[in-house]
Amino acid sequence: MNIILLGPPGAGKGTQASRLEADRGMVQLSTGDMLRAAVKAGTPVGLQAKAVMEAGELVSDAIVSALIGERLDVADTANGAIFDGYPRTEAQAEALDLLLSERGRKLDAVIELAVNEDALVERITGRFTCAKCGAGYHDTFKQPAVEGVCDVCGSDEFKRRPDDNAETVRTRMAEYRAKTAPILPIYEARGIVHRVDGMADIAQVTTEIEAILDRLT
Ligand code: ADP
Ligand code: AMP
Repeated sequence: MNIILLGPPGAGKGTQASRLEADRGMVQLSTGDMLRAAVKAGTPVGLQAKAVMEAGELVSDAIVSALIGERLDVADTANGAIFDGYPRTEAQAEALDLLLSERGRKLDAVIELAVNEDALVERITGRFTCAKCGAGYHDTFKQPAVEGVCDVCGSDEFKRRPDDNAETVRTRMAEYRAKTAPILPIYEARGIVHRVDGMADIAQVTTEIEAILDRLT
């Protein structure tokens, strides 16, 4: 099964993708994570993407679709892919259809995480991750069980994203509204959109998504 998690920055896409990955053996494909890895490694893609990401704008369609195409060729995605943060434009939505059909695969569902925009700035500015294993946390909504120690790997080092500040968040929201929200009707016309209440607590959102996926299998 191949699914898209769609929603604005901070909607909970990454949080839910990693929970589904653990529960269902699907693989999370996050273009944001791929780009951050490229920036860290100083690759040509990373060098091109760095300033764009720091400004909260969108990296070019060609770059992100190429990253997804390469990743789909790795065998672990055969059990199912969870697209997180991709597609973000109409051109990317078209590219994804092609990338999947070229590989004899198709899109099964788009899960829309419906959220109240007022809550997103707090979600994003409170976000932090384990520097070692990448597990996601939040200052208010998801602290590690033992303060300062990662629940997953025991590391005591955490990090915050440079673009997770109130100013950049506003640009990212505007990009979402202008370029990403308009792709929903494409999928609605195919009857594959499922809406989930992204304001519920993290476990409840997972339960709702799992119920949708169970109905589809
Ligand atoms: P996205 O990948 O959509 O940008 P994240 O999954 O990184 O969003 O979530 C943003 C922040 O909000 C994280 O710190 C996460 O722990 C927290 N979060 C995610 N889902 C919820 C939720 N349902 N309720 C409260 N906080 C949440
Ligand atoms: P994310 O981790 O999904 O919040 O993405 C972080 C940043 O990476 C975004 O603000 C964009 O600059 C860039 N990015 C991630 N995915 C895409 C995409 N599909 N298209 C264009 N830019 C992207």
